[in-house]
This record gives sequence, C-alpha cells and structure tokens, in this order.
Amino acid sequence: MTFSEKLLDWWDVHGRKDLPWQHPRTAYRVWVSEIMLQQTQVKTVIPYFDRFISRFPDIESLSAASTDEVLALWSGLGYYARARNLLKTAIICKKDHTAKLPQTPKELLALPGIGESTANAIYSQAHNQPAVILDGNVKRVLARYLAVDGWPGKAQVHQQLWTTAEKLLPKERGADYTQAIMDLGATLCTRTKPVCTQCPVRQSCKAFKSGTVDLFPARRPKLKISKKSFQMLILTDSEGNVLLERRPPAGIWGGLWSLPADDDVQPVQQRLGLATDSLRKLPELEHQLTHIKMTIQPLIAHIEVLTRGVECSGDQRWFGQHEWQALGLPKPVRQLLETHLENSET
Ligand code: SF4
Repeated sequence: MTFSEKLLDWWDVHGRKDLPWQHPRTAYRVWVSEIMLQQTQVKTVIPYFDRFISRFPDIESLSAASTDEVLALWSGLGYYARARNLLKTAIICKKDHTAKLPQTPKELLALPGIGESTANAIYSQAHNQPAVILDGNVKRVLARYLAVDGWPGKAQVHQQLWTTAEKLLPKERGADYTQAIMDLGATLCTRTKPVCTQCPVRQSCKAFKSGTVDLFPARRPKLKISKKSFQMLILTDSEGNVLLERRPPAGIWGGLWSLPADDDVQPVQQRLGLATDSLRKLPELEHQLTHIKMTIQPLIAHIEVLTRGVECSGDQRWFGQHEWQALGLPKPVRQLLETHLENSET
C-alpha cells in the first residue's frame, strides 16, 4: 500500500470528521478556517469560527463589514493582519468574482493573505482536488517520514518538503487526504510525544525506523529578540470614557485601536493637545511579541468631560466601557483597561 492509501484507511476510522468547517465544506468556510488556523490550534479556533460564521455567513456579508467589526470578532486570536486581509479579500471577491472565492489555486494566490499552501488547502478541501499543503503539522509529518534535515522554515528545506509532498499525493479523495495528513500531525505525529506505535505509516517512516524521531524536524534557529520600552496613556473622562487611537495600518498592532503610546509620554501629550500634569504612574507591564519584548509604563490621567481639551480626529475617539470591550484590542491594552477601568465605573 502507498503512503496515501495507508493514511486514508487510517483516517476513515480515526480522522476528525466533525469540525465545524467541514459541514458544509464550502470554499468560504474552508478559507475562513484556514486563515484562523494559521499559527493557532483547532480547539482555540472553533469558538472564533462559530461566532465569525454566524455573524458573517458569506462573502456578501463579510464584504459589507467594517474593519472594527471584523477585528472585534478576531480579538484574542492575534496576528491581526490575517483579519484585515480577510476583509480585503472579501471586498475583492464581491467586486471581481460575483461574491465568491475563485476556484483555482492561481487565482486564490492573487488574493491578500492567501499563500501557496492556503490556496491549495482551499482548492483541495472545497473542490475535492489533490493539492499540496504544508502547514506546520504536515511539515512535521513529512520531515520525520523522510528524515529531512534542516529547519522547514528555510526555503531550501521547504522546497524539498514540497516536492516530496507532491509525489505522495493521491489522484482521488483530495479533500480527505488533506484532512488526513493534517489530522495525523495533530493527533499522532505531535510535536512532543508522538504516538508512533499507532501510526499507519510507521513501517516506512525513516525517523521511526532509525529511532531518530526526536531529531526531526530541526528546530528553528533562535530568534533575535529586541527590547522596546514605551509609555501608554490611559486618559479617562468623568463619564467613564477612555481615549483610544487607531494604530497606523503597518507595523505592530497595525490598524487596531490602542491606548496612545510613545517612547515618552510628552509627545503623546503634545499630539493630543493634552494640558494635564496630573499623570499618575501605574505598575509596569511586560508583553512579548514574536520578535519584541515590550516593557510598557502605563500612566493614567482624568479630565472633566466638559473641559477636556482633547480634540478627536478620525483616528482618535472616546469609547465607553461597552464600546471598548467589543473592540479588537491588543492584549496588553485590554489588560490595562480591564485592570484599571472596569471597576472604576458605577
Ligand atoms: S511513525 Fe511516528 S514519526 Fe513517523 S510519521 Fe508516524 S507518528 Fe510521525
């Protein structure tokens, strides 16, 4: 039996067949799930997927949404560029593809936020076609199965895995095969403690046969983490509103509403035209992004609603508690607001 035959036989018995995006397995639902599943586990994604789909059941409804609405439903999933690209793609599909996702990988690849593997995942699952996918789970399975040296994030290793994956593809059951290889990586060929004794392809798995499963895939080279310190201003008024600024579209937390922040609070004060000297320091907060370790010094100030001199432009707004709670906010910003504002309101 071939690799794919063994895998499909195993999947028919043990595979995951009750994931929400499998019923019905439309291109739209597969696409939303694939974007959410990037860097995120299935069990985390399911409640987000359900909420997202009940609010935006199709491209038509998503394309009419505001960025804030989409980000609010994404709040907590992280990597917010994914949500903004989802909206951009929906708008393009509404305009250029009669409110549907195009079918071929080549057309899908031309859309924002859709890479080669995601395009193929949509194509194979929504249209039941054989197509290579290489998400984290699949890379791990193939790196072990063929004992491929090197970190899969390296272009050369990635290409080697891609070529191998092409050779293993079956001609039939494209959708089930894609799900089967992802399921194998998620349930048996896991990152730690893989359950090789139950694996359907162990007899031909090079890493298993040579007792070197632990060595594959090679670890990612250590990331250089930079440090960044800045101050964040929590400015409230007597009606319990807080001032938020929209971040520039590119860069950290691009496009999200955030507390005004800068290296030092003075430029923030100047930018807001804020003439208050009653700033109070709050305990520092640490937050780690993939490449950056942040130290945030929060400062809180309060101004009267009638006398507040802070003019709001389109990218600055006062938000009441129920409003900011519904926004997609960066994690430390939400944490600061929940800690220092939620209990202060009556
Ligand atoms: S035998 Fe083990 S290492 Fe090889 S593919 Fe199966 S679970 Fe992964």
